[in-house]
Amino acid sequence: MSLPVVAIVGRPNVGKSTLVNRILGRREAIVEERPGVTRDRKAVDAEWLGHNFTLLDTGGWIAGGDDLDDKVSAQSVQAMADADVVMLVVDSTVGVTPEDERIGLLIRRLDIPVLVVANKVDDRSHEIAIWEFMGLGLGEPFPVSALHGKGTGDLLDALIALLPSGSDDELVDQVSDDPQLFSVTLVGRPNVGKSTLFNRLIGEERAVVHDRPGTTRDAVDTIVETVSGPIRFVDTAGMRRKAKIDEDTEYYSLVRALKAVDDSDVALLVIDATVGVTHQDQRLAERVDAAGCPIVILLNKWELLGTEARLKIGEDVERKLSFLGEPNVLRISALSGKGVNRLWPTLQEAVGAYRTRIPTRQVNQVIRAAQSAQPAPHGARVMYATQGATDPPTFTLFANRELHSTYMRYLERSLREAFDLGSTPIKLRVRRRND
Ligand code: GDP
Ligand code: GDP
Repeated sequence: MSLPVVAIVGRPNVGKSTLVNRILGRREAIVEERPGVTRDRKAVDAEWLGHNFTLLDTGGWIAGGDDLDDKVSAQSVQAMADADVVMLVVDSTVGVTPEDERIGLLIRRLDIPVLVVANKVDDRSHEIAIWEFMGLGLGEPFPVSALHGKGTGDLLDALIALLPSGSDDELVDQVSDDPQLFSVTLVGRPNVGKSTLFNRLIGEERAVVHDRPGTTRDAVDTIVETVSGPIRFVDTAGMRRKAKIDEDTEYYSLVRALKAVDDSDVALLVIDATVGVTHQDQRLAERVDAAGCPIVILLNKWELLGTEARLKIGEDVERKLSFLGEPNVLRISALSGKGVNRLWPTLQEAVGAYRTRIPTRQVNQVIRAAQSAQPAPHGARVMYATQGATDPPTFTLFANRELHSTYMRYLERSLREAFDLGSTPIKLRVRRRND
């Protein structure tokens, strides 16, 4: 079995080789003093607390030149895309450079688990400078001095938590926290890979499957019992042993899936990434969204995509599914199983947002701040706001007069961002104060 791959990326001279050597515990650092010197790709096996992985030093792949294509060679991007985790090394004595920003953007678009390593933090006086790297949008940086061996322990602890086997344990913990049986529906056009995914999910070693006949002959729920608790797949009739079916049957299974969405806590919208986001995908997403069901988007067949296509579909989703707010998007290969283990924690998160209850004081703080940043036109004003219900979060706004729909959307966005509600549907009701 091959080891998980950790790609080390970053501009020349930030200390990538020094870091690799430090992790390997070798003293005789093979360090190139001149910036930008081309090095060969170097892969070495390393170990931390009993976890083995391969470190890939992408050293010389970032050449000089002005545009992105010159700076990050296709090969380097490919290495990142194939890695299980990326360590982006930056230089804390220099701060964020435009090159750092470009690599950061690329990593975000490719959606790879990443650790930002702020290197050359030789003493505490440098530590303050690292917060600038939060601006890369890749999470909190780890202060490290590769040269003196500081901070690498914490970094490696975080790394092994991100490696594939580590995240498996994590999902078990997260799912077992929720005592309630939660329900999931798979929706998607024909041939996007729904049954392949479903079979993979129930094919996991620890899954025990119960079929639970529903009210009609067609409706069959499948309860998948994982060691972390049962999950109900709503109306998965035909998903497991898929007979080849004609168009009519396809149509009805789609209709059924849309009905099943009403009984679900989360819908998984499977999209064939090799095809892109089609008009029909959009319409499905609209229907699910209108039913008030949170959506997780699964870009399937990911392993078939080249680098360019991977970047393109990210934009595709942003553009064509923008009405979903900021949906969770997972890149998976149902066929090989890659990326599928990230599904459980993501589901858990979506369910959490759906059931959120926010204290009234905080709701009012956010609404007040939003109003002072941008007051409603014509003297309209929300005097008081409260969350009246959960599943989905429903807010009641007490206002002195009608609020314009544009302004309502603005308030909705403010609430969504402040409370991290992701793509959970939110309802806003307005009451006139003298109601
Ligand atoms: P690479 O091009 O990213 O692989 O960078 P190298 O590992 O070759 O390091 C570039 C330079 O930075 C070398 O002179 C290293 O000695 C120096 N360097 C690496 N890590 C540190 C560190 O933690 N602190 C300081 N002060 N210098 C470092
Ligand atoms: P459904 O109609 O949505 O249930 O789709 P299926 O699960 O029947 O899959 C349709 C076709 O896509 C089958 O030939 C699958 O083998 C194939 N497929 C599904 N998932 C993947 C994947 O991740 N990668 C690749 N290359 N093919 C896949």
